[in-house]
Amino acid sequence: MAKAACNLERGIDLLLALARPPASVEMAPLSEALGRVLAEDCFAGIDQPPFDRSPLDGYALFHGDVAASDKENPAVLTVSQHIYAGDTPAGPLAPGEAARVTTGAPLPPGATCVARQENTDYGEEQVKVYVSLKKHQNYVFRGEDLPAGRLVAAKGVRLRSAHIGTLAGQGFTQAAVYPRPQVGLLSTGSELAPAGEPLPPGMIYDSNSYTLAARVREWGGQAQAERGIADDPAKIAAALEAILAERDLVATTGGVSVGAHDYMPRVGEILGAEVLFHGLGYKPGGVALALRRGDKLILCLSGNPFAALVSFELLAGPVFRKMAGQTELLTPRVRASLRGDFPKASASRRFLRAKLVGGEVFTERDGHGSGSFSSLTRCDCLIDIPAGSPPMSDGAAVDVILL
Ligand code: AMP
Ligand code: MG
Repeated sequence: MAKAACNLERGIDLLLALARPPASVEMAPLSEALGRVLAEDCFAGIDQPPFDRSPLDGYALFHGDVAASDKENPAVLTVSQHIYAGDTPAGPLAPGEAARVTTGAPLPPGATCVARQENTDYGEEQVKVYVSLKKHQNYVFRGEDLPAGRLVAAKGVRLRSAHIGTLAGQGFTQAAVYPRPQVGLLSTGSELAPAGEPLPPGMIYDSNSYTLAARVREWGGQAQAERGIADDPAKIAAALEAILAERDLVATTGGVSVGAHDYMPRVGEILGAEVLFHGLGYKPGGVALALRRGDKLILCLSGNPFAALVSFELLAGPVFRKMAGQTELLTPRVRASLRGDFPKASASRRFLRAKLVGGEVFTERDGHGSGSFSSLTRCDCLIDIPAGSPPMSDGAAVDVILL
């Protein structure tokens, strides 16, 4: 098996070239569609709002009738009808007439603006209007929010609450979405004890399979985990074989480095898998090994919990999004200003956990060591420090990946 030399971007390209987009579409009830990926462009079927309406409580009127109104010389109009939200107007306004309206009420023909009730005497049969109004002042046009036929959300978009609400406003009850990607996870290491059981000496609880499964759920997918397979290449290969039968993407953790019990390269050989790359040169977690078996991808990641998460984010993230049918595949990045400093020179590319606030990014004072994981609970991003960087000081411009 050839061991391909690679950098991160090339590695991602190799994986994306092999990852398969979704092969089917399903209808999801709108109430269940949050986080799903749209499988078709979605267009407005009706004007929103469906009629010209009042944006406030007041009086609908013809602007020409109040052209000269002010506090001293109010126009006096006849209140010819009351229109509440949900009503339909009884008929058009005649000259000199106003309609009492509530917020959301349809405006009658002849009304060209709405006087805010605070600018009137609140009259019931006759109303004094103390202000002049321009044509279409306080007036919401039919279709102003969304005209029928306009694109609401494009195929490949992951639905957020704003999409769900906009589609609901159109009266839609369901959305055409892609199936949720199914990701297999396998944690390996003879030191791993299952949660819920006493911890024998020298053992640790398996956390990686939980972290990565949770991340898959945050991405909108479903994960199936096989936990705590001992450092035994035959056992790992058998477990992988079983999980590969059902999943297109499997991530393993542990045993991928150069230690005596780092068996993942050997597991790849047992499975007859092709090595796409082994080692991408970044820290932490750059020891990642990517295997291909038929049309299935296996990402073998470091067991170190922070390194595993970094690599999963960088490598599995784009693959997942392609499998999900999303159009934005690459991990979202922003530029930010470093707060504090990072006193180490960095020969290799390095990902540093941090917290982004406004345009400023704060590194973790304590707990940025590779053995530390819990500090991530205070972080929400990774700073991407390029290879060959000198120590970085306060105010440096850095690239940040949002988690
Ligand atoms: P490895 O990649 O197997 O060399 O493991 C690197 C470090 O991560 C070791 O300290 C392991 O004990 C730890 N580790 C490996 N797998 C897990 C896991 N599933 N959960 C938590 N820690 C792990
Ligand atoms: Mg190990």
